[in-house]
Amino acid sequence: MQTATTIAETRRIVRDARVAGKIVGCVPTMGALHAGHVSLIEAARRECDFVVVTIFVNPTQFAPHEDLEKYPRPFKNDLEKCEAAGADLVFHPSVDEMYPVERQVNLHVGDLASRWEGTSRPDHFDGVATVVLKLFNITLPDKAFFGAKDFQQQAIIRCLCRDLDVPVEIVTCPTVREESGLAMSSRNVYLSDTERETALAISRALTNARDRFQNPQSTVAEVRQQLRQDLEAVDGLELDYATVVEPVELTESDDEQPEMVALVAARVGKTRLIDNMLLHSSEQGS
Ligand code: AMP
Repeated sequence: MQTATTIAETRRIVRDARVAGKIVGCVPTMGALHAGHVSLIEAARRECDFVVVTIFVNPTQFAPHEDLEKYPRPFKNDLEKCEAAGADLVFHPSVDEMYPVERQVNLHVGDLASRWEGTSRPDHFDGVATVVLKLFNITLPDKAFFGAKDFQQQAIIRCLCRDLDVPVEIVTCPTVREESGLAMSSRNVYLSDTERETALAISRALTNARDRFQNPQSTVAEVRQQLRQDLEAVDGLELDYATVVEPVELTESDDEQPEMVALVAARVGKTRLIDNMLLHSSEQGS
């Protein structure tokens, strides 16, 4: 496995792979890798000939009060995980390499970015879209792999490619969970044992929502309301939002669509957690 910190070196290595006729897969991450990230690298390994993992804690997607400084950065461990999962190249640039000058051009995402996560994180998805487009321009992948865990993010990246004709196929991989049901997240390290117990209410409520949804007697509106009530009743959990939406624009629709997704964000202690579940199928991803 090769590693590169500069854009020029990354371009050189990827160009050689492309010249050799290889299909290039990209897995963008912020590091602190866990089994969820590993599943993306493994999917890229299965579907592509050359796998690039990017590790970059992108400052422009953090608000000033968020956890940019304390975000975990276990870099050596991350490299081991990338190698074991079959990555060919890890691109891990510095902030100066990615943002050497004050930018004149940034992406701005429309309404889809102002709903749900956008309510508490207003500029977050502009930062995400801009860095992902930069990473695509640097690594020139044929395919890029994202987790269903960040459902709104993958929906926005799909719009980015659709609206700006970015020739990258987006693959969304299922959420990997701990045995307890808790969705794996780099931020789970912030949780105390008690908070972890409390956080389990989220995946439990989502599973209940899926069961209710699959019961022909319940309506979408009822499932949405019950999901909210279930989570509002949990001690130690401060609900940000809980809803059931269609999976493309993420709007609340009371008509049953071919697929619907339940989205949740909540604070447990100081940690903000997000999770979601597709309601028709027993598995996530596309
Ligand atoms: P992050 O490092 O948090 O920016 O995440 C990098 C990628 O890993 C994103 O596409 C996430 O959606 C994905 N990811 C994070 N957690 C999980 C998980 N539990 N299961 C699957 N993918 C995940």
